Amino acid sequence: MSYQISIQKTQNPKSKPDADKLGFGLHFTDHMFVMDYTEGKGWHDPRIVPYGPITLDPSCMVFHYGQAVFEGLKAYKAADGRILLFRPQKNMERINISNDRLCIPPIDVDFAVEACKTLVNLEKDWIPEAEGTSLYIRPFIIATDPFLGVRPSLTYQFYIILSPVGAYYKEGINPVKIYVESNYVRAVKGGIGFAKTPGNYAASLKAQMDAKNIGYTQVLWLDGVEKKYIEEVGTMNVFFVINDEVVTPSLEGSILAGITRASTIELLKAEGIKVTERKISIEEVYEAHAAGTLKEAFGTGTAAVISPIGELNWNNNKIAINDGKIGEISKKVYDTITGIQSGKLKDTFGWIVEV
Ligand SMILES: *Cc1c(COP(=O)(O)O)cnc(C)c1O
Repeated sequence: MSYQISIQKTQNPKSKPDADKLGFGLHFTDHMFVMDYTEGKGWHDPRIVPYGPITLDPSCMVFHYGQAVFEGLKAYKAADGRILLFRPQKNMERINISNDRLCIPPIDVDFAVEACKTLVNLEKDWIPEAEGTSLYIRPFIIATDPFLGVRPSLTYQFYIILSPVGAYYKEGINPVKIYVESNYVRAVKGGIGFAKTPGNYAASLKAQMDAKNIGYTQVLWLDGVEKKYIEEVGTMNVFFVINDEVVTPSLEGSILAGITRASTIELLKAEGIKVTERKISIEEVYEAHAAGTLKEAFGTGTAAVISPIGELNWNNNKIAINDGKIGEISKKVYDTITGIQSGKLKDTFGWIVEV
């Protein structure tokens, strides 16, 4: 199937936000991509239209039963003016993994990457250029049947919206304090934890708020059955450096397979560092800390890339990791991935797609 993207340009371009007041997810560009799905007809009518509110029937299935998926990636402007995307096919492959779990029809991966490129290219003046800034890309799909029965929708809309975002770390990389959650759980095997779907976020808010109220940035989730094994941290995958081994929880169906996670593993292996994907218990981390072998801990995700963990609190038992400073491996991964993303370092992995 071949698609032709129609483009309707805005008559009222917005003024761009100040470069130093971008924040995250606050500003949106002039245009968005939309495509429809109708049972029997498939995905059709791909178009770029002025960004703005959309009209949906209040009975649309997405509002009632949460049948929706999303993605997140970034476009960077290199010093030489090139526009770079970081592994966009991986995001569009993953949206199909999420689609499958949520009974949403798959999209054409290559076409979705093409749509992304077309939109980013049209909005290239919105890509901020200061160090650490980027254009955040949010593809998402929603169920649009106006119907209150419980079944998969027969119609959907696929959107891509863009948001210029500021540098995650303005004053150097600050390690975060993490609360180990032993009351609430995020997901269980067999559930939807491996899908990037809004329900997982709705389920996480309560724990997140409780942790914030007592001074923690995010929670570290434990497995939903025994509350013993480490899952992920907030909206990031998590890594621990114990002795000379880097350990990250294996993908068992309840955590998201992060693209930053996969890139971190690939990068460390290329550096000759031992990386193991396996079950790791919170007890093992505390024991390693007591034995002096827990060297670093960090989260990985598109927003921050690497977020070093400086403190863990598990049932009021607090431990400081690497004296609350960023570790050598965390720093190396951060510098390499952000260097490749921004075009400063040579991309020896074939991760970059030029717009
Ligand atoms: C998106 C996401 C991540 C990080 O994935 P990346 O592809 O690295 O951005 C981790 N955990 C959850 C729950 C997520 O939704």
